Amino acid sequence: MKKLAPPMAICCAALSLAAHAGDGGPGTSAGPTSIAPITTIAPPKDKAYPGEITLSVDASDLERRIVRVHETLSGIGPGTVLLYPEWLPGTHAPEGPIDRFAGLKISAQGAKVTWTRDPVDIYALRLHAPAGVRSIDIDFDYLSPTSPKVGPLEISRDILLLEWNSLLLYPAGYFTRQIPIEASLTLPAGWQFGSALEVAASAGAQTQFKRTSLETFIDSPVYAGRYASRLDLEAGGGAPVHLDLFADRPELLAVKPDQLAAYRNLVQQAYKLFGSHHFGHYDFLFSLSDQVQENGLEHHQSSENGSAPESFTEWDKTAYDRDLLAHEFTHSWNGKFRRPADLWTPNYNVPMQDSLLWVYEGQTQYWGHVLTARSGLWSKQQALDELAEVAAYYENESGRRWRPLEDTTNDEIINPRRPMSWRDWQRFEDYYSEGQLIWLEADTLIRERSQGTRSLDDFAKSFFGINDGIFTTVTYTFEDVVKALNAVTPYDWSAFLRERVDGVGRPAPLDGLRRGGYRLTYTDTPSDILKASDQFRKHVNLFFSIGLVIDDKDGTILEVRWDSAAFKAKLTESSVILAIDGIAYDADVLKDAIRSAKDTQRPIELIVKTGDRFRVVSVDYHEGLRYPHLERDASMPARLDDIYTARP
Ligand SMILES: [Zn+2]
Repeated sequence: MKKLAPPMAICCAALSLAAHAGDGGPGTSAGPTSIAPITTIAPPKDKAYPGEITLSVDASDLERRIVRVHETLSGIGPGTVLLYPEWLPGTHAPEGPIDRFAGLKISAQGAKVTWTRDPVDIYALRLHAPAGVRSIDIDFDYLSPTSPKVGPLEISRDILLLEWNSLLLYPAGYFTRQIPIEASLTLPAGWQFGSALEVAASAGAQTQFKRTSLETFIDSPVYAGRYASRLDLEAGGGAPVHLDLFADRPELLAVKPDQLAAYRNLVQQAYKLFGSHHFGHYDFLFSLSDQVQENGLEHHQSSENGSAPESFTEWDKTAYDRDLLAHEFTHSWNGKFRRPADLWTPNYNVPMQDSLLWVYEGQTQYWGHVLTARSGLWSKQQALDELAEVAAYYENESGRRWRPLEDTTNDEIINPRRPMSWRDWQRFEDYYSEGQLIWLEADTLIRERSQGTRSLDDFAKSFFGINDGIFTTVTYTFEDVVKALNAVTPYDWSAFLRERVDGVGRPAPLDGLRRGGYRLTYTDTPSDILKASDQFRKHVNLFFSIGLVIDDKDGTILEVRWDSAAFKAKLTESSVILAIDGIAYDADVLKDAIRSAKDTQRPIELIVKTGDRFRVVSVDYHEGLRYPHLERDASMPARLDDIYTARP
């Protein structure tokens, strides 16, 4: 962790090299040279901060979505630099929303204190306080997006998602776990909230939280709402675990007993898998809304989750992403308690390195699916159908021809999930789901080599299950992962993993399916879970046939698979399909056309609108409808069935 350089040091190193190259010596070129910036931002040190943050946040302005912040910071001295959090845990990227920070006023005992922004690090503000000032008052506004054009919505008339990293400045020079903070929050009157923060006192709409460290505080966001429900998921008397629901409308909070039972099973199955827990209490913060963003963000003692408003009331239609809570819960072990050594940072303004995200996110994606099946949130068939989709995506993905998997761990930094064209050619964030397939390969390999006596469950217990009840993060390296795998089953795990994460042009890692007792096939009928998802989201998914995903509301193309028949016909995302073989667009008309073109020479003719241009496009595709499925291969043991079966 200490070998990581703070942002300023990295800048200086790069720029001083440039300056040296053009310093007028022999062989230099004509033209300007750069000025080396002056850096005096103190790198974070592991020592107690000699003051504290007192924070008061007013989040009651639902109409204008302006969050008012008042902060008192003691312990300052000459040269204090204030930082706005930039590199955010869980997002693995510099996504601190500094573009929404406005109205800054700083004072000391009523007298104005001036500030300037660091010329190189825009997240750093230098104080120019008179000598002897030890405490300052800070006021600013956080301008939460008022429209989706600005950014994903966090505040609606009925729900509020509050991340503390947006709502404070903190002093440079200290590990965040060494900075104490006391905070209070004002919410709209009558609202309920959920958070992993512990409450010291509440009076009306204002809540005072217990003093904690800045690290724990920022790791404990708040969800609040007009319509809320808090359900107990730990019936067995262990550490309290709650499902905190916030919905657009009260009727969306109707949770049936079998749905609650499945979420309770999730907690128990996670304990059986990891054999430990690393929280004093845990809150699933869960928004059921199409008015605020659908989050999925892990924290140590809570998680931010968001799904369709009807996630409980239309249970069968919304199964598609029901692995969300299992994924985020798994992160309490894999990601928060155990974290890659190069990803762990001492404060929020030291860059992260994401090289092991295929463990952090990839294995979490794996356990997320497994625990969703083991808990009964998915049936075994639903879990198999979801896995078939994942496997088919990578079997058909072109981007693997040019880019190693590990390089995709940079994607959140390259593009923090802005819309993109040709996603499968870019190979965006493959460390999640291709990582999942690699861990399925590892799991089935362990089972095969140990004649069924060991499995990846043993790795989970030995790697994530250490230090039961302790919260302190334990970091790891690639070598630690290999060593722990070898302790479960001896094998050349280093070569196994490096081939898969470094290789270019390798086929998708599907050996886990084969060893799991299944093979990937395609039929002309979608699985029930995909069909329900497409109907619910009003999508027409022809990705594995003609190569398109279409918005069924108006025929707009949402995605085109690279190298597919649609790609070769020069179709692009955001064009609109108006007609198929002379008939007005309708999903069934398009599917019929694909069926009747099968095994013929006749192209499918589309009329397509792109902007104000109309085109007639011939799509040369003759393989019929294709939807992925897993088919049982009786020559192999049904290891996948065992993986998806609840632990007793
Ligand atoms: Zn994750």
